[in-house]
Amino acid sequence: MSETKKFKTETKRLLDLMINSIYTNKEIFLRELISNASDAIDKYHYLSLTNDKLESKDYEIRLSLDKENRTITISDNGIGMTHDELVDHLGTIAKSGSLEFMKKLEENKNEVDIIGQFGVGFYSAFMVAKKVLVKTKSPFDDKAYSFESEGTDSYKLDEIEKNETGTEITLYLRDNTDDENYDTYLEQYKVEKLVKKYSDYVRYPIKMMCKRMNPTYDEEGKFKESVETMEDTTLNSMIPLWKKNKSEVSEEELNSFYKQKFNDYEDPLFSMHINVEGNLTYNALIFIPKKVPYDLYSDQYEKGLQLYTKGVFIMDKCKELIPDYLKFTKGLVDSSDLSLNISREILQQNKQLTNISKNIEKKIITELSKTLKNDFDKYLEFFKSYGVYIKYGIYENFGEKKDDLKDLLIYNTINEDKMITLKEYVNHMKDNQKYIYYASGSNKEAVLSMPQLDLLKKKNYDCLILTDGVDEFTMSVLGKYEDFELKNINQGDLDILDDSEKDELKQKEEDNKDFLGELKKELEGKVTDVILSKRLVDSPVCLTSKDGLSFEMQKVLNAMPNGSDAKAEKVLEINPNHELFNALKKAYENKELADYADLLYNQALLMEGFPIENPVEFSNKMCNLMIKTIK
Ligand code: ADP
Repeated sequence: MSETKKFKTETKRLLDLMINSIYTNKEIFLRELISNASDAIDKYHYLSLTNDKLESKDYEIRLSLDKENRTITISDNGIGMTHDELVDHLGTIAKSGSLEFMKKLEENKNEVDIIGQFGVGFYSAFMVAKKVLVKTKSPFDDKAYSFESEGTDSYKLDEIEKNETGTEITLYLRDNTDDENYDTYLEQYKVEKLVKKYSDYVRYPIKMMCKRMNPTYDEEGKFKESVETMEDTTLNSMIPLWKKNKSEVSEEELNSFYKQKFNDYEDPLFSMHINVEGNLTYNALIFIPKKVPYDLYSDQYEKGLQLYTKGVFIMDKCKELIPDYLKFTKGLVDSSDLSLNISREILQQNKQLTNISKNIEKKIITELSKTLKNDFDKYLEFFKSYGVYIKYGIYENFGEKKDDLKDLLIYNTINEDKMITLKEYVNHMKDNQKYIYYASGSNKEAVLSMPQLDLLKKKNYDCLILTDGVDEFTMSVLGKYEDFELKNINQGDLDILDDSEKDELKQKEEDNKDFLGELKKELEGKVTDVILSKRLVDSPVCLTSKDGLSFEMQKVLNAMPNGSDAKAEKVLEINPNHELFNALKKAYENKELADYADLLYNQALLMEGFPIENPVEFSNKMCNLMIKTIK
C-alpha cells in the first residue's frame, strides 16, 4: 500500500517558510527533533504505567550520522504514530498557534527570530533537509508506516516493516551553498556540541556511536600509539542541577556551575536555588555576580535569564523574566508550564512568564532583606555595587515598587558612622523631629559644610547623605517613610522653628519689608524670591529651591544625553541674625544695594556649585570692593 497525500494549505505555507527561511540559526532543528523524541518517550512511559500492553523498556534517543549518504537520523523508542496520527500530526497543522505564528511571520519577516526562541517543531527539519523520511510504529496500530516528503505539495505514506515501537526520522541534507555548509551537521563534534548546547538536560539519554582515540601502551607502560575505536556514547548529562532538590545541591556545586555557565572566574555574591511547585511550577537558579558586569552601564547590555522548558534550552536572554532594575542578575529558569512549541506560547507565554518573573522578583527581594538583617557586610558589598539599581527600581514606573523596595535602601548620615536603613533613621529621630532630612553631597564633610544644614546641626537632627544622581528622584517618588515626610534640606520650608521663633521672624519680615522688596527687585529674573531664612544659623546666605524640582535634579537632568533644560526655582535666603544682613541694610539706605545684591547672589551660586553668570563682572566688583575697604 502506498498513498500520496497533499499537505493542507496552511502546512504548505509553513513549509514554504521553512524552506525559504532566511533564518540563520538553522541548527535548532536538532533541538526540535530531540525534543519531540523526548515527548514521545514521555507519552509512552506515561501510558505504560496503566497499560499492560506497553512493557517498560530502556528509553533512549539515538543519533546517527552517515557522511556517505549525507543523512542524519534521530530515532526514539517512544510512542510512535498510527497511520491516522501521521496524517493528522505531520500532514496537518492542527494547532491554531502555529497558524498564528505563520501569519505573524508573513506580516513581518523580522519576526523570523521567534523560530529560534520557540521553535516550530517537526517542520524545522526542512530548514536543513531536502527530503525527510519518517519511519514509525505505534503500539496502537498493527502496522508500521513511513512518511516521506520533500516539503513540496505532497507527502507519501507507505507500509513498512518495523518491529519496535518508536519513530526514526532521517534527514537528507540539502546541498551546500555559498552561504550554508550543511555538511557541518555530519560532523561528530558539531552534533556533540549542539546536543550539549540545546539538549543537555533532556532526561533520556541521547546516544551516538562516537569515534574516540584511545592510547595503547607497551609492556613497560610506555605510550605506543592511539587507536581509533567506536564507542556508544551518551551525549547529554540529563539531570540538571536546578531540577535537583535544593538540599541535594551544595554551595560549591552551585558556585562552580555559575562560573562555568556564565564565564566568571569568581564565585557569585549571591546564589539562589528556587524550586516552586503548585499553580506555577518552575525551577530557577539565580546569581548576583560579585563584580559588576563590565558592560552593565552600557546600552548594549542585555538583561535576561536563560529559559528552558522541561530541560530543553529555549533562549539565552529572556528579558521578560527579570525587571529592569534587577538587570544585573544572571541565571536560568526551567518551567514545564511552557511548551517548546510556538502553539501554546502565543496564547500563554506572556502570562506564564510574567507570573514566574513576579515570583522570582519577590524571592530576590526577600533574600536581600534577609541578608541585610543577618549579614550586613555582605549586604554592604551588594549595595555598593548595585544599590543604585534598587534606587532606580523605586523610581521606575512612578514608584510602583516603592513599598517592596524602600527597606532595602541604606544611606550614610551625618550622625552615624555606618550606613543605615530608613527604619533605623526613624528609630533614632529626636522627640520633636517631624521629618526625615536629606542632603546631596559627595561625602560627609561636604554635607556638613552646607549652610542649609545650620539649624539641623544645632538641633542635632540626623541627615541622610545622598551621593547618587538618582537619589533625589528616588526620594521624591518615595515622598514618605512610615509617617514621616522626606525633606531636602535645601528645598522649601524645613518647618523646624518653634512658635516663638516663627513670631520673631514674622516681625523681622515686617520690619524689613522695603529692604527685602528692593533686594528682590535687584535680583529679578535671577531668583524667584528673596526671604529671611528659617534654616541658617551661622552662615549669612544660601540658595534654596522651591518644592518640586531641586538643584540636584536640575543638574542630573541637564547632564543627560538628550538633556532637558529644566530649571529649579531659586530662592535667595538671607540670615537676619548675621552681621552681613545689617551691612546690606546700610547699603540699601545709602542706595548702593545693586552691586552688593549681585555679589551676594553670585556667592550663593558658587556655594551651590553653580557657575557664576558673569565671572569678569563679578571679579571687577570684588576688586572695587576690596579697594574701597582696604584702607
Ligand atoms: P509539537 O511537537 O509541538 O506538537 P511538531 O510539529 O513538532 O509539534 O509535531 C507535531 C506532532 O507530531 C506532535 O505533537 C506529535 O504528536 C507528533 N510527533 C512528532 N515527532 C514525534 C515523534 N518522534 N514520535 C511520536 N510522535 C511525534
